[in-house]
Amino acid sequence: MRTKIVAGNWKMHKNAEETEDLLNDLIDKLPNDVEARVIVAPTFVNLSSAVEHLQFTNIGVAAQNMHQSEAGAFTGEISADMLKSIGVNIVILGHSERRAYFHETDALLAEKVNTALKHELEVIFCFGEELKDRQSEQHFNLVENQLKDALFHLEAKDWKNIILAYEPVWAIGTGETASPEQAQEMHKFIRETIASKFGADVADNVSILYGGSVKPENAKEIFSKPDVDGGLIGGAALKAVDFSAIVAGV
Ligand code: PEP
Repeated sequence: MRTKIVAGNWKMHKNAEETEDLLNDLIDKLPNDVEARVIVAPTFVNLSSAVEHLQFTNIGVAAQNMHQSEAGAFTGEISADMLKSIGVNIVILGHSERRAYFHETDALLAEKVNTALKHELEVIFCFGEELKDRQSEQHFNLVENQLKDALFHLEAKDWKNIILAYEPVWAIGTGETASPEQAQEMHKFIRETIASKFGADVADNVSILYGGSVKPENAKEIFSKPDVDGGLIGGAALKAVDFSAIVAGV
């Protein structure tokens, strides 16, 4: 049985005080009668305090990125070991903003995934097509290639620590959402692609989240689709009332 998950990607928002305020607000407002994992991903500098703040709750803490190397002269970067050492057990890799602004490729992401798994971090792996790919009807090919290039070298046993997040780039932060039907169509395709390489057991058990302008108004309908196992939320994760309403929709 796969797990329902709602994860909030806070991106480069919230200083230390604002982080504490939002965490307190979430502890207050998140529904406790839903059977979903809830994860938040504050910025690197606030991860330690988030871990401490949430230690007696069911809310998980994820990093938004990580370097592929164990250690070294990589000014400004953060290693898997550093994350683990402060109690962070989850990392988001391959977000479209990392791909677009920091030129992360699937080959690089394959290395990051390997390092994360070696350190027993759980990976939320993001991927998805750009508008031009969908307009030229290349979106299935593109997504298949992203999965092949970044994840097909894994072994079936590795998949217990992988969460997939399909995030069509044209829907991220734009207010434009994939329709529930578009999301279901792609999530089904993703599950079939995983099944073709790793077997039905792996495919049936991997959680596939949808990301792209999910809001309280559209969450429930998107999450009701059989292959959509929750969401990765950007903008709406920054307000406890909205994020809690989205969690309630899962
Ligand atoms: C994201 O950045 O992962 C995301 C889904 O953002 P938004 O919800 O704001 O579209």
